[in-house]
Amino acid sequence: MQNSRAGSGERENRMVDCLFCRIVSKKVPAKIIYEDERILAFEDVNPQAPVHTLVIPKKHIPTTLDIEDEDNALIGHLIRTAGEIAKGKGIAERGFRLVVNTNPEAGQTVYHVHIHILGGRHMHWPPG
Ligand code: 5GP
Ligand code: ZN
Repeated sequence: MQNSRAGSGERENRMVDCLFCRIVSKKVPAKIIYEDERILAFEDVNPQAPVHTLVIPKKHIPTTLDIEDEDNALIGHLIRTAGEIAKGKGIAERGFRLVVNTNPEAGQTVYHVHIHILGGRHMHWPPG
């Protein structure tokens, strides 16, 4: 019998293979700056701005397209916490950007939903 996951590709990678799930379970080290029972925030390993922090749900959700009704409160908490982190880093008033890339053409490379908090420099528009 054919495995229903066969051919699903890296975008459907399972929790065991997921880098950010491994950061959640502390199997991969990261500079964690905030954690509660539902979410985790840590510094991006390859920062694109003076502030570049990632905020993720602990729950494995591959892309924004996989968010379900039951996740609404979780995603709200994620976005509001991103704002609190920006405040804590002193960039809220001058401005910051929250970015969520979805699928290859947008540049998503890790298939576990994450919000990029970018700030500390002028942000260009449109983004590249
Ligand atoms: P995406 O391209 O999927 O929107 O964002 C993935 C982000 O994860 C990138 O900004 C990349 O620098 C970051 N990243 C990739 N691997 C690691 C890692 O092992 N540790 C941390 N802290 N960030 C990572
Ligand atoms: Zn994951």
